[in-house]
Amino acid sequence: MSTFEDHSHDIELLTSVKPYVIGLCVMEHSALFGIVDARGDVLCSESVPMSDYPEPTAFVFDICDRLLPMIEKCGGLERIKAMGISACSGNNRNGCIENPSNLKWGGKIPLAKMFQGSLAIPVSLLNDATAAAMGEMTFGAAHGLQNFVAVSVNVGLGAGIFVNNRAVLGYNGRVGEIGHVTIFPGGRACGCGKEGCLESYVSRRGIIDNLFELFKTYPELTSTLRQVKKEDMTIDMIAEAAEAGDEVANKVLNYSGELLGKALVPVASFINPEAFVLCGEVGTKCGRFMQRAILEALNVNLFSQMKWQTRVLLSSLDLSEAPLLYASAEAWNTKAV
Ligand SMILES: [Zn+2]
Repeated sequence: MSTFEDHSHDIELLTSVKPYVIGLCVMEHSALFGIVDARGDVLCSESVPMSDYPEPTAFVFDICDRLLPMIEKCGGLERIKAMGISACSGNNRNGCIENPSNLKWGGKIPLAKMFQGSLAIPVSLLNDATAAAMGEMTFGAAHGLQNFVAVSVNVGLGAGIFVNNRAVLGYNGRVGEIGHVTIFPGGRACGCGKEGCLESYVSRRGIIDNLFELFKTYPELTSTLRQVKKEDMTIDMIAEAAEAGDEVANKVLNYSGELLGKALVPVASFINPEAFVLCGEVGTKCGRFMQRAILEALNVNLFSQMKWQTRVLLSSLDLSEAPLLYASAEAWNTKAV
């Protein structure tokens, strides 16, 4: 080996003393956590069911316990820059999960502070949609974009917003709650207590409800999905049927895309984004069957001088790793406190 090569190796070691971050994604049914490098390669990861943790203290204790062998495998805590947490009902401003409707934990939980106390590294926490935007900008379809909105479609629907290359955090940490904008006054009951919210029509449950309404509206149309009971229907089945050319499956995703596109018109009008990026489980699985309808509904309804300027992109990340990459992305910006 030449001297030059030895020297470059030393420089590489010096500049990458903390080459890893920890990501933790707290979801409705499970938590996914692991260690990620700057290229977005997941070195190790594990998933646990949230039903095992009726309260957050035991959760923090157990996740730290499970992280320790991973941290050792990566060369110890001194090689870890920070930890990033993504959580539904996460407050971007204070590192807390606040009154989560889909977790058993109630009240205000200072999860970032709890992990920071246990691991002794900087910890940041973002709500899931803001984390998704951060992740898509760092590793995915929004790479290189400075003004964009990540539209995360899962059990619910939320938006992560970047303006002038910075994440919009909101006045008190809650931002991008487009899922609870009323699109049909007096419409379907939403989990938030209102009626006719966008998320009651464009989400995992919402799209399935749309499908069963379409079955009634178009009794003449045949579909393999008619054999499936409503309680057994999944988004995967709808996406697979759409892929196979099923007319009703394509119709329902087209309709759901149209509703989403109309709802994004004020968002595009207010912040003039370069692109909307569809992500989340439903967004990723069904996005390509909704993309055209979103784009058309958006542009038909936009002010003439804004038409056809905003793209609709699909997440380019693998769905099995995306939640962890989203959670970890903010950790690269997190400074020691
Ligand atoms: Zn609602």
